[in-house]
Amino acid sequence: MSMRKNTEIDNSRRSFLTAVCAAAVGSVLPEDGGPVEIIDIHQHTHYSGRSDEDLVAHQLKMGVTKTVLLPAGSKYGLEADAWGNDSVVALAKKYPKGFYFFANELPDVPETRSVIEKYLKMGAIGVGEQKFEVESDSKHIELIATIAREYDVPVLMHFQHGKYNTAFDRFHKILEKFPKVNFIGHAQTWWGNIDRNHDQTVMYPKTKVTPGGITDRLLSDYPNMFADLSAGSGLSALLRDEDHAREFIKRHQDKLLYGSDCNDRIGEGEKCSGSQQLATLRRLTPDIKVLEKIFYKNAARVLKIK
Ligand SMILES: [Zn+2]
Ligand SMILES: [Zn+2]
Repeated sequence: MSMRKNTEIDNSRRSFLTAVCAAAVGSVLPEDGGPVEIIDIHQHTHYSGRSDEDLVAHQLKMGVTKTVLLPAGSKYGLEADAWGNDSVVALAKKYPKGFYFFANELPDVPETRSVIEKYLKMGAIGVGEQKFEVESDSKHIELIATIAREYDVPVLMHFQHGKYNTAFDRFHKILEKFPKVNFIGHAQTWWGNIDRNHDQTVMYPKTKVTPGGITDRLLSDYPNMFADLSAGSGLSALLRDEDHAREFIKRHQDKLLYGSDCNDRIGEGEKCSGSQQLATLRRLTPDIKVLEKIFYKNAARVLKIK
């Protein structure tokens, strides 16, 4: 056997061992051997009543190194009893290297601009989670986009048919009017529409996916559109058709951002959709460079996290 052959075997063995180790520690190892990193772009304080202490433990258990906290606006608690701007500032202050925060407010109240600006000035790195009963191309969302453009931060949108950021088929108008603002799509209607044959009334479709749905096209056609893989909706979008998911991940590898958005206190197993999504992404993404993009590189770029 030649030297060259031996080296090849060594290399393939090494990459296999690297993959095994990465799976074992629950993370990916950057090729430079640097620190293990996972950025979770979607968590909440007081989520279904969960304490800060339990949230921090949950993130550690999942192997997350940096967490982005999305506050509620002054009303509704994001329909999850989530707390608002002051609570996310407080936790990020306590753990400045591990926790970052967005600014948020209802988009259709007199205080929208003043509240969001106040927290952007305090260090918020984005606006959202925008989960309010307006149309996705309304003047209210235009106001949110205008503020985001002024501060050069992304906007995270919860799309839910008949309820939040409706008229999803018209959202492309906002992407066209605000080409410099990055939008991150999330939730049932966002993920349902990876399928060209999506029935808008079905929140968690289980059928095979035909590519070319609204979401698939927004990600392909607009450089300022990104996707948040969090929650049951993000997990189910990959699990419902794994052959489709492998191609979707390859196709949109520069647009997908990992997020958890789960309210459990465990951080592993079947009650924790965030850790299941990490496992699913590892399983469906053989290329470690693509996995690194989805786990943290895309988020670091879009959210400007160093
Ligand atoms: Zn949401
Ligand atoms: Zn969880």
